Amino acid sequence: MRTVRYEKLRPDEILHVIKTNPIAYLAIGPLEWHGPAMPYGTDPAAAYEAALSAAKQTGGVVLPPIYAGTERERSEEILDAMGFQDTSQYIIGQDFPANCIPSLYFREEIFSLIIREYLRLLVKQGFRLIVIVNGHGATNQWEVLNRLAIEFSNECDCFVHVTMAIDSDDPEMKYEGHATRSEHAVQMYLHKEDVDLSLLPPKPEKLRGCEWGINGAMTYALMPNEDKTVEEQCDPRNATSEAGERFFNAGVKKLV
Ligand SMILES: [Zn+2]
Repeated sequence: MRTVRYEKLRPDEILHVIKTNPIAYLAIGPLEWHGPAMPYGTDPAAAYEAALSAAKQTGGVVLPPIYAGTERERSEEILDAMGFQDTSQYIIGQDFPANCIPSLYFREEIFSLIIREYLRLLVKQGFRLIVIVNGHGATNQWEVLNRLAIEFSNECDCFVHVTMAIDSDDPEMKYEGHATRSEHAVQMYLHKEDVDLSLLPPKPEKLRGCEWGINGAMTYALMPNEDKTVEEQCDPRNATSEAGERFFNAGVKKLV
């Protein structure tokens, strides 16, 4: 194939894919705060690049990235783990009061309708395996995608699979969370010019998640460290594009 990018294909080329290898990849992620050093399109960029790399190996097409994602209000328990004093605050996703601008989170029902429509249209066109490459780990995002995947897989002549964009069984990933080392590293590997680590305070100053909108996996698991700061293992200031290449390739391998 000339390209796996759906929007660049002509009708006869799309038809050829549908007849021979009817796979469509849908890369999804919100435009979202990822700390001061990172682009807003971090999640969809990682998902889209992973989908392009996977499709080059498996065949099929990749739809243009869907810049959409959803979040919900934070619970008191998680706000406490993140280090907030006032745990009764109304905070959506990673939109913390200290951030200079909010994210473009969609309301859950609107997000769901957009993805539903893409699935309906791709099934109608004849795609039989739709791979949703999800760049955003919010609980309600997963719930929406999994609900739609189950429905379409059982009610239509297709199978919808949902997977995380940069996922691997690498033990190094254990501490990674939102806007931590691996996301910075992958973005440095894919689009180095979009990342500016100098916008984070220099080490050895600790990063408080509630001040920077950066949180490791242990925080989301309600097991933060004593001072409720970003763990050394996932500190974004340790990111390198070499590590990003490793994380990205492991993610693509799993996706394929
Ligand atoms: Zn992200």
